[in-house]
Amino acid sequence: MSAERIDGKKAAADLRKEIGAEVKKLKEEHGVTPGLAVVLVGEDPASQVYVRNKHRACKNAGIESRDIRLPEDTPHSEVVAKVKELNEDPQVHGILVQLPTPEQVDDEEIINTIAPEKDVDGFHPVNMGKLLSGQPEMVPCTPKGVMHLLDVTGVELEGKEATIVGRSNIVGKPQAMLLLYEHCTVTMCHSRTRDLSEHTSRADILVSAVGVPGLITADMVKEGAVVIDVGINRLDDGSLAGDVAYDEVKEVAGAVTPVPGGVGPMTIAMLLRNTLEATKRSLEH
Ligand code: NAD
Repeated sequence: MSAERIDGKKAAADLRKEIGAEVKKLKEEHGVTPGLAVVLVGEDPASQVYVRNKHRACKNAGIESRDIRLPEDTPHSEVVAKVKELNEDPQVHGILVQLPTPEQVDDEEIINTIAPEKDVDGFHPVNMGKLLSGQPEMVPCTPKGVMHLLDVTGVELEGKEATIVGRSNIVGKPQAMLLLYEHCTVTMCHSRTRDLSEHTSRADILVSAVGVPGLITADMVKEGAVVIDVGINRLDDGSLAGDVAYDEVKEVAGAVTPVPGGVGPMTIAMLLRNTLEATKRSLEH
């Protein structure tokens, strides 16, 4: 039996349409246009593509995006000063600094400088803490997108075994919290996990966010499991692949996300959602 292919492209398009309608309503009723400032330091080609896609998605949803490009050799202090300036700008509701930045810039300090209420990536310790303590406000886009995909797939989460491979701050850790709040029994795996397969093969929900192509093979997946592949890996031939060996895993799983066209499009859709939510909250205050 072949697994259901979870269509992230369609889910993201539906979501973007919904957000576009809400943005329009906000403009009509409150005269406010959500604004997102995207700061790119340097000229990393992959980052340039990500940033371009974010601006395009904003434009299509009616969100005002500000493109801030700083040269590769910009000193750390100048990036901090730029973020502080954006913190004070009432037309900017969301701030995103494209990571990674060049060596001289301390990413952690940059994240800590962003005003928590404008931190649409949800990486600021205040937002992380709120998520951990059960008061989520600004939730990181990729794990939030994964939850939306699980929702549209219609999978029942309560009481299920969920295994997450990868423990990063931007995906693995917040993903664990979000699944826990849906009453899953959560297992987190990482590079030091002794027997990865033992943990993945009992998962009803398996999320892989590692960055190793083909890491998750069919023998590591429980029959009927829902498999979410967050990994994005560029292969030698220039093509993209996830962490999951899609062709073989789809013969065992109940549902699986493809790469590309799975989690990736959801991340940008959730960035728009977070920018819209930040704008609405700014009106309340
Ligand atoms: P990261 O490098 O910060 O973390 C990788 C994690 O994988 C670490 O916690 C590490 O312990 C674990 N790991 C490494 N090797 C392992 C192994 N052999 N077995 C088990 N665990 C192992 O990465 P990240 O930023 O969380 O990103 C992970 C992947 O997800 C990357 O491919 C990245 O490109 C992708 N990603 C995709 C999106 C999206 O929008 N789809 C967003 C963010 C990240």
